Amino acid sequence: MFNFLKKFSRSAKDTAKKFFRLIIPYTVDKESIKNIENVLYDADFGTEITPEIIDEIKSALRHDRELRRENIIHIVSMVLKRNLEGSEASLNIGEQRPQVICLVGANGVGKTTTAAKLAHFYKTAGKDVMLGSCDTFRAAANEQLNSWGSKLSVEVVSSQHGADPAAVAFDAYKAAIARGKDILILDTAGRLHVKSNLMAELQKIFRVLKKSNPDLVPNVWLVLDSAIGSNTIESAKTFHAEIGLTGLIMAKLDGTSAGGTLVGAYKKLHIPIYFIGTGETPDSLEQFSIENYIHRLFPPDNLQKSHG
Ligand code: GDP
Repeated sequence: MFNFLKKFSRSAKDTAKKFFRLIIPYTVDKESIKNIENVLYDADFGTEITPEIIDEIKSALRHDRELRRENIIHIVSMVLKRNLEGSEASLNIGEQRPQVICLVGANGVGKTTTAAKLAHFYKTAGKDVMLGSCDTFRAAANEQLNSWGSKLSVEVVSSQHGADPAAVAFDAYKAAIARGKDILILDTAGRLHVKSNLMAELQKIFRVLKKSNPDLVPNVWLVLDSAIGSNTIESAKTFHAEIGLTGLIMAKLDGTSAGGTLVGAYKKLHIPIYFIGTGETPDSLEQFSIENYIHRLFPPDNLQKSHG
């Protein structure tokens, strides 16, 4: 069913060369361990993961006076794999028709762009997709999504600026049922309104959808921005506590950041990771895999350089 994914993972490997993430020194001993710690904090592995990696390195240094770059990479990979165990989401998102995927997250993280990328992804997989523009607060979001819709030939349900987002979600859901769509992707607002509360607004969207279909189990995916550091984890915890997340997507993993918060967020929330965003074009979305994520952190040139 998802044969086309092979194409996506191949392109992930092809592009990975462009990314230079963790710059691991050629050798590390007790004196230079601080360098590694700084690299890990810079990569946003934060206090959730960094101490665990450092402890493993220290323990390895009890046996060997000096560790080489490949030993360090092995240790980092091992700790990341351990912490990401169970994180790879299955793309089989359920049997309900239409499936609802609701994207939530802070303002500017990449929700609208990710909605378009997902529409493209599922359309390429042969699914009949519809988009719903529930970010009625940010006028540009509506325009942005409608523009993506026409570029991708995907129908968009939207309303005017300031409309009730739950009403747009309801209309979009009804339209998706009426037109026999397989998947409805809802974009939502990220900024706190002056008068209303974002979480209450999102909860209302789900209440209204449930009224329409009490059996509906929406996919609620939090979009994270790889360039934003450890605040992300606190924000993710709030989203999860308030609206119950079912998945994570890490956008902007093509920048200079390593997106280490993804591991911290998974460690805290234990919610499957579906995709990573690697650019601004509709096809720059890759299914998340632990192997690919680690591969991105340590591109081949890092391994080949003989001196750090
Ligand atoms: P929203 O406010 O969460 O809906 O965020 P947008 O979708 O409007 O994205 C904010 C900015 O991030 C835009 O300039 C997007 O083009 C950019 N963006 C989104 N995803 C990615 C990505 O994966 N990589 C890069 N480089 N830019 C992205």
